[in-house]
Amino acid sequence: MRELKDLVRPNIWDLSPYSSARDEYSGHEAHVFLDANENPYNQPVNRYPDPLQRELKKVMGKLKGVRPEQIFFGNGSDEAIDLVYRCFTRPGIDNVVAIEPTYGMYKVCADINDVEYRPVPLDEQFQMSAEKMLAACDENTKVIWVCSPNNPTGNLIDSDEIERLLDQFDGITVIDEAYSDFSRKPAFRLEVARRSRLVVLNTMSKAWGCAAIRLGMAFAQKEIIDLFNKVKYPYNVNLLTQEKAMEMLQSPYEMDKWVKTLLMERGRMMEAFQMLPICEKVYPTDANFFLAKMTDANSIYNYLVENGIIVRNRSRVALCGNCLRITIGTKSENSQLLGALRRW
Ligand SMILES: *Cc1c(COP(=O)(O)O)cnc(C)c1O
Repeated sequence: MRELKDLVRPNIWDLSPYSSARDEYSGHEAHVFLDANENPYNQPVNRYPDPLQRELKKVMGKLKGVRPEQIFFGNGSDEAIDLVYRCFTRPGIDNVVAIEPTYGMYKVCADINDVEYRPVPLDEQFQMSAEKMLAACDENTKVIWVCSPNNPTGNLIDSDEIERLLDQFDGITVIDEAYSDFSRKPAFRLEVARRSRLVVLNTMSKAWGCAAIRLGMAFAQKEIIDLFNKVKYPYNVNLLTQEKAMEMLQSPYEMDKWVKTLLMERGRMMEAFQMLPICEKVYPTDANFFLAKMTDANSIYNYLVENGIIVRNRSRVALCGNCLRITIGTKSENSQLLGALRRW
């Protein structure tokens, strides 16, 4: 069994992080701040934001059922993905294993960090075999990437297989739950309290409708969160983002309403697609999108573009030949897409 120290890049384990003015002062009631070379005018954006986003973590922790010290906030979950590589993998030496097909950023960040990326194909139902994932690992495998509900396939990965992986892999397992707000199945973030090698990703970009503010998060035990905090830019989440996120979290029922509407529309769209002569198959989904196998994805994609409608052409992705990925939009947007496809 590898210790956490054996999984971390030695230079990161030994790193003394940058200590900002706002890190060094904490606790005491203060009202004169002459420590950070800020301009005293132009409130409220003149001061550096809280580098650890403490207020936001309290509120988010309650909402997600996770302790504040088990939360990392990043400039999108993409920042957390990159941090996983920079904390755990040695360039040119270590490797990671990932389901295939899946979200493209795991591979891009592996390439940027010069880390070998080992894709393991899902089966025809887009399901993962823990056994196959483990067979792809060796002593330099530091991280396994699982995305559930998976992008671009939409389906949840079987939780028994994920449990099997967590039980048997002694490196870091990352489960990307960017779409978990659209699913009724229990989320794996609730497992971080009892799994010391688990990192779960989540984001404000999808169900919360906040892709523009760039707020992603990772849930993990404190030892791992502390590593991320050590490596991240000191003020990685700006004040405007923290404030907007706080405002959104005050009205979670608004998000629930969006999700309910989107799920209803998703049902309508999937049924309608099944009736289209140019659609061969609609795949099951637990996300705010679905994958559809078409007769000729490339020409249908181009036809839609000419009509001002953009979907995602995934036909060159492994196991997704002739597939388009359809995001659920407003009722009107969805109807425009259907109308165009019926006129094909
Ligand atoms: C959209 C998406 C994200 C979100 O990334 P952000 O940087 O938080 O916007 C993360 N993972 C997956 C699988 C996604 O589809």
